[in-house]
Amino acid sequence: MTPGIRPLIAGNWKMNGTLAGAQRLAEALRGAAKSVTPELLVCPPFLHLQQVAAVLLGSPIALGGQDCHHAAAGAHTGDIAAAMLRDAGASHVILGHSERRSDHAETSAMVLRKCEAAAAAGLVPVVCVGETEAERDAGQAEAVVARQLLDSLPPSFTTAGGIVAYEPVWAIGTGRTPSEADVAAMHGMIRNALVQAHGDGGRATKLLYGGSVKPGNAAGLLALPDVDGALVGGASLVAEDFLAIARAVPAG
Ligand code: PEP
Repeated sequence: MTPGIRPLIAGNWKMNGTLAGAQRLAEALRGAAKSVTPELLVCPPFLHLQQVAAVLLGSPIALGGQDCHHAAAGAHTGDIAAAMLRDAGASHVILGHSERRSDHAETSAMVLRKCEAAAAAGLVPVVCVGETEAERDAGQAEAVVARQLLDSLPPSFTTAGGIVAYEPVWAIGTGRTPSEADVAAMHGMIRNALVQAHGDGGRATKLLYGGSVKPGNAAGLLALPDVDGALVGGASLVAEDFLAIARAVPAG
Protein backbone atom coordinates (compact mmCIF):
# COMPACT_ATOMS: atom_id res chain seq x y z
CA MET A 1 0.00 0.00 0.00
CA THR A 2 1.04 3.60 -0.52
CA PRO A 3 0.34 5.91 2.43
CA GLY A 4 -2.43 8.38 1.60
CA ILE A 5 -3.84 6.37 -1.32
CA ARG A 6 -7.23 4.68 -0.83
CA PRO A 7 -6.95 1.11 -2.09
CA LEU A 8 -9.11 -0.10 -4.97
CA ILE A 9 -10.29 -3.61 -5.79
CA ALA A 10 -11.49 -3.74 -9.39
CA GLY A 11 -13.33 -6.60 -11.07
CA ASN A 12 -12.98 -7.26 -14.79
CA TRP A 13 -15.94 -9.44 -15.74
CA LYS A 14 -14.66 -9.78 -19.32
CA MET A 15 -17.02 -11.52 -21.80
CA ASN A 16 -18.81 -13.66 -19.22
CA GLY A 17 -22.30 -14.31 -17.99
CA THR A 18 -25.86 -13.33 -18.73
CA LEU A 19 -27.71 -10.13 -17.96
CA ALA A 20 -29.56 -11.84 -15.10
CA GLY A 21 -26.26 -13.19 -13.74
CA ALA A 22 -24.63 -9.75 -13.91
CA GLN A 23 -27.54 -8.25 -12.01
CA ARG A 24 -27.35 -10.97 -9.34
CA LEU A 25 -23.61 -10.46 -8.94
CA ALA A 26 -24.06 -6.69 -8.64
CA GLU A 27 -26.82 -7.17 -6.06
CA ALA A 28 -24.63 -9.47 -3.98
CA LEU A 29 -21.78 -6.96 -4.05
CA ARG A 30 -24.07 -4.04 -3.32
CA GLY A 31 -25.35 -5.76 -0.20
CA ALA A 32 -21.84 -6.19 1.22
CA ALA A 33 -20.03 -3.14 -0.14
CA LYS A 34 -20.35 -1.04 3.00
CA SER A 35 -18.60 -3.72 5.06
CA VAL A 36 -15.31 -3.43 3.15
CA THR A 37 -12.78 -0.62 3.38
CA PRO A 38 -11.31 -0.37 -0.14
CA GLU A 39 -13.08 1.30 -3.03
CA LEU A 40 -14.77 -1.26 -5.30
CA LEU A 41 -15.07 -1.07 -9.07
CA VAL A 42 -16.81 -3.52 -11.40
CA CYS A 43 -16.40 -3.63 -15.17
CA PRO A 44 -19.16 -5.68 -16.82
CA PRO A 45 -19.53 -6.31 -20.56
CA PHE A 46 -20.86 -3.25 -22.42
CA LEU A 47 -24.31 -4.79 -22.90
CA HIS A 48 -24.82 -5.19 -19.15
CA LEU A 49 -23.59 -1.77 -18.07
CA GLN A 50 -26.89 0.04 -17.83
CA GLN A 51 -28.67 -2.66 -15.87
CA VAL A 52 -25.72 -3.09 -13.52
CA ALA A 53 -25.66 0.70 -13.09
CA ALA A 54 -29.31 0.56 -12.06
CA VAL A 55 -28.56 -2.10 -9.44
CA LEU A 56 -25.60 -0.12 -8.10
CA LEU A 57 -27.39 3.22 -8.01
CA GLY A 58 -26.81 4.80 -4.60
CA SER A 59 -24.12 2.24 -3.64
CA PRO A 60 -20.44 3.14 -3.27
CA ILE A 61 -19.42 0.64 -5.98
CA ALA A 62 -18.04 2.30 -9.10
CA LEU A 63 -18.74 1.10 -12.62
CA GLY A 64 -16.34 0.84 -15.54
CA GLY A 65 -16.16 -0.20 -19.18
CA GLN A 66 -13.59 -2.67 -20.50
CA ASP A 67 -12.48 -0.55 -23.48
CA CYS A 68 -13.43 2.54 -25.48
CA HIS A 69 -12.67 3.94 -28.91
CA HIS A 70 -10.27 6.87 -29.28
CA ALA A 71 -12.77 8.92 -31.30
CA ALA A 72 -15.58 10.86 -29.66
CA ALA A 73 -18.16 9.58 -32.19
CA GLY A 74 -18.46 8.52 -35.80
CA ALA A 75 -18.24 5.67 -38.28
CA HIS A 76 -16.64 2.97 -36.11
CA THR A 77 -18.84 -0.09 -36.38
CA GLY A 78 -18.97 -2.20 -33.25
CA ASP A 79 -17.04 0.30 -31.12
CA ILE A 80 -18.07 2.26 -28.03
CA ALA A 81 -17.15 5.89 -27.31
CA ALA A 82 -15.98 7.06 -23.89
CA ALA A 83 -18.93 9.44 -23.61
CA MET A 84 -21.31 6.49 -24.17
CA LEU A 85 -19.76 4.76 -21.17
CA ARG A 86 -20.26 7.90 -19.10
CA ASP A 87 -23.83 8.09 -20.32
CA ALA A 88 -24.43 4.50 -19.21
CA GLY A 89 -23.21 5.29 -15.69
CA ALA A 90 -19.51 4.41 -15.88
CA SER A 91 -16.82 6.43 -14.13
CA HIS A 92 -13.82 4.29 -15.17
CA VAL A 93 -12.58 2.43 -18.23
CA ILE A 94 -10.00 -0.36 -18.51
CA LEU A 95 -7.62 0.35 -21.40
CA GLY A 96 -4.81 -1.66 -22.97
CA HIS A 97 -5.71 -4.95 -21.28
CA SER A 98 -3.39 -7.65 -22.60
CA GLU A 99 -6.40 -9.43 -24.13
CA ARG A 100 -7.18 -6.26 -26.12
CA ARG A 101 -3.53 -5.96 -27.07
CA SER A 102 -3.47 -9.58 -28.32
CA ASP A 103 -7.06 -10.11 -29.61
CA HIS A 104 -7.30 -6.70 -31.31
CA ALA A 105 -3.64 -5.87 -31.98
CA GLU A 106 -3.86 -2.77 -29.79
CA THR A 107 -0.60 -0.90 -29.52
CA SER A 108 0.52 1.44 -26.76
CA ALA A 109 0.08 4.34 -29.18
CA MET A 110 -3.58 3.36 -29.58
CA VAL A 111 -3.97 3.03 -25.82
CA LEU A 112 -2.60 6.56 -25.39
CA ARG A 113 -5.27 7.95 -27.73
CA LYS A 114 -7.97 6.01 -25.88
CA CYS A 115 -6.67 7.46 -22.60
CA GLU A 116 -7.02 10.95 -24.00
CA ALA A 117 -10.58 10.17 -25.11
CA ALA A 118 -11.42 8.77 -21.68
CA ALA A 119 -10.02 11.84 -19.92
CA ALA A 120 -11.92 14.16 -22.27
CA ALA A 121 -15.16 12.33 -21.42
CA GLY A 122 -14.48 12.52 -17.68
CA LEU A 123 -13.63 8.84 -17.24
CA VAL A 124 -10.77 7.52 -15.13
CA PRO A 125 -8.51 5.38 -17.35
CA VAL A 126 -7.23 2.13 -15.83
CA VAL A 127 -4.26 1.31 -18.04
CA CYS A 128 -2.88 -2.23 -18.08
CA VAL A 129 0.77 -3.00 -18.67
CA GLY A 130 2.72 -6.23 -18.33
CA GLU A 131 5.34 -8.45 -19.86
CA THR A 132 4.99 -11.84 -21.54
CA GLU A 133 6.65 -14.90 -20.05
CA ALA A 134 9.32 -14.87 -22.76
CA GLU A 135 10.13 -11.23 -21.97
CA ARG A 136 10.44 -12.03 -18.25
CA ASP A 137 12.62 -15.06 -18.96
CA ALA A 138 14.85 -12.85 -21.11
CA GLY A 139 15.29 -10.41 -18.20
CA GLN A 140 13.36 -7.69 -20.04
CA ALA A 141 10.26 -7.42 -17.83
CA GLU A 142 11.04 -4.01 -16.34
CA ALA A 143 12.23 -2.53 -19.62
CA VAL A 144 9.08 -3.74 -21.43
CA VAL A 145 6.77 -2.30 -18.79
CA ALA A 146 8.70 0.99 -18.65
CA ARG A 147 8.32 1.31 -22.42
CA GLN A 148 4.59 0.53 -22.27
CA LEU A 149 4.11 3.22 -19.62
CA LEU A 150 6.01 5.79 -21.62
CA ASP A 151 4.09 5.01 -24.81
CA SER A 152 0.58 4.45 -23.33
CA LEU A 153 0.14 7.33 -20.89
CA PRO A 154 -0.61 10.85 -22.19
CA PRO A 155 0.20 13.98 -20.14
CA SER A 156 -3.51 14.12 -19.13
CA PHE A 157 -3.24 10.71 -17.45
CA THR A 158 -2.66 11.83 -13.88
CA THR A 159 -4.96 14.87 -14.02
CA ALA A 160 -7.71 12.43 -15.09
CA GLY A 161 -6.94 10.40 -11.93
CA GLY A 162 -5.50 7.60 -14.07
CA ILE A 163 -4.74 4.20 -12.54
CA VAL A 164 -2.05 1.74 -13.66
CA ALA A 165 -2.60 -2.02 -13.44
CA TYR A 166 0.52 -4.18 -13.64
CA GLU A 167 -0.64 -7.47 -15.12
CA PRO A 168 2.05 -9.92 -16.22
CA VAL A 169 0.49 -11.55 -19.30
CA TRP A 170 1.58 -15.02 -18.17
CA ALA A 171 -0.19 -14.63 -14.82
CA ILE A 172 -3.62 -13.75 -16.24
CA GLY A 173 -6.08 -16.60 -15.81
CA THR A 174 -3.31 -19.14 -15.25
CA GLY A 175 -3.27 -19.49 -11.47
CA ARG A 176 0.40 -18.43 -11.53
CA THR A 177 1.70 -15.22 -9.98
CA PRO A 178 5.14 -13.61 -9.82
CA SER A 179 6.93 -13.79 -6.48
CA GLU A 180 6.02 -11.04 -4.04
CA ALA A 181 9.57 -9.71 -4.42
CA ASP A 182 9.12 -9.46 -8.19
CA VAL A 183 5.77 -7.66 -7.82
CA ALA A 184 7.28 -5.22 -5.30
CA ALA A 185 10.26 -4.53 -7.59
CA MET A 186 8.01 -3.91 -10.60
CA HIS A 187 5.65 -1.63 -8.67
CA GLY A 188 8.63 0.32 -7.31
CA MET A 189 9.91 0.78 -10.85
CA ILE A 190 6.45 1.88 -12.05
CA ARG A 191 6.15 4.38 -9.20
CA ASN A 192 9.55 5.87 -10.03
CA ALA A 193 8.72 6.10 -13.73
CA LEU A 194 5.41 7.82 -12.99
CA VAL A 195 6.99 10.32 -10.61
CA GLN A 196 9.66 11.07 -13.17
CA ALA A 197 7.09 11.65 -15.92
CA HIS A 198 4.21 13.18 -13.94
CA GLY A 199 5.69 14.54 -10.66
CA ASP A 200 3.23 14.63 -7.75
CA GLY A 201 0.52 13.16 -10.00
CA GLY A 202 2.68 10.06 -10.33
CA ARG A 203 3.15 9.88 -6.56
CA ALA A 204 -0.65 9.83 -6.10
CA THR A 205 -1.42 7.31 -8.87
CA LYS A 206 -3.03 4.08 -7.72
CA LEU A 207 -0.99 1.05 -8.81
CA LEU A 208 -2.96 -2.20 -9.01
CA TYR A 209 -1.56 -5.70 -9.33
CA GLY A 210 -3.51 -8.09 -11.59
CA GLY A 211 -3.00 -11.71 -12.57
CA SER A 212 -4.55 -14.69 -10.73
CA VAL A 213 -5.39 -12.75 -7.57
CA LYS A 214 -7.48 -15.05 -5.36
CA PRO A 215 -8.66 -14.96 -1.75
CA GLY A 216 -5.69 -17.18 -0.83
CA ASN A 217 -2.90 -14.97 -2.19
CA ALA A 218 -4.49 -11.52 -1.90
CA ALA A 219 -3.27 -10.59 1.58
CA GLY A 220 0.40 -11.10 0.71
CA LEU A 221 0.16 -9.21 -2.59
CA LEU A 222 -1.91 -6.34 -1.18
CA ALA A 223 0.52 -5.78 1.69
CA LEU A 224 3.40 -5.01 -0.68
CA PRO A 225 4.73 -1.45 -1.00
CA ASP A 226 3.26 0.46 -3.96
CA VAL A 227 0.50 -2.14 -4.45
CA ASP A 228 -2.63 -0.05 -3.96
CA GLY A 229 -5.15 -2.69 -4.87
CA ALA A 230 -5.91 -5.36 -7.40
CA LEU A 231 -7.46 -5.87 -10.81
CA VAL A 232 -9.26 -9.19 -10.56
CA GLY A 233 -10.55 -11.31 -13.45
CA GLY A 234 -11.84 -14.82 -12.71
CA ALA A 235 -12.32 -14.34 -8.96
CA SER A 236 -14.41 -11.21 -9.53
CA LEU A 237 -17.21 -13.36 -10.99
CA VAL A 238 -17.90 -14.91 -7.59
CA ALA A 239 -19.17 -12.33 -5.10
CA GLU A 240 -17.74 -14.07 -2.02
CA ASP A 241 -14.29 -14.37 -3.62
CA PHE A 242 -14.24 -10.74 -4.77
CA LEU A 243 -15.33 -9.57 -1.31
CA ALA A 244 -12.77 -11.85 0.37
CA ILE A 245 -10.06 -10.18 -1.74
CA ALA A 246 -11.39 -6.75 -0.70
CA ARG A 247 -11.30 -7.85 2.95
CA ALA A 248 -7.66 -8.92 2.54
CA VAL A 249 -6.59 -5.29 2.08
CA PRO A 250 -4.48 -4.45 5.13
CA ALA A 251 -6.00 -1.94 7.54
CA GLY A 252 -4.91 1.71 7.29
C1 PEP B 1 -7.39 -9.79 -15.76
O1 PEP B 1 -7.62 -10.28 -16.84
O2 PEP B 1 -7.43 -8.54 -15.62
C2 PEP B 1 -7.05 -10.68 -14.66
C3 PEP B 1 -6.33 -10.21 -13.71
O3 PEP B 1 -7.54 -11.96 -14.76
P1 PEP B 1 -7.35 -13.14 -13.66
O4 PEP B 1 -7.59 -12.53 -12.29
O5 PEP B 1 -8.40 -14.15 -14.02
O6 PEP B 1 -5.97 -13.63 -13.80
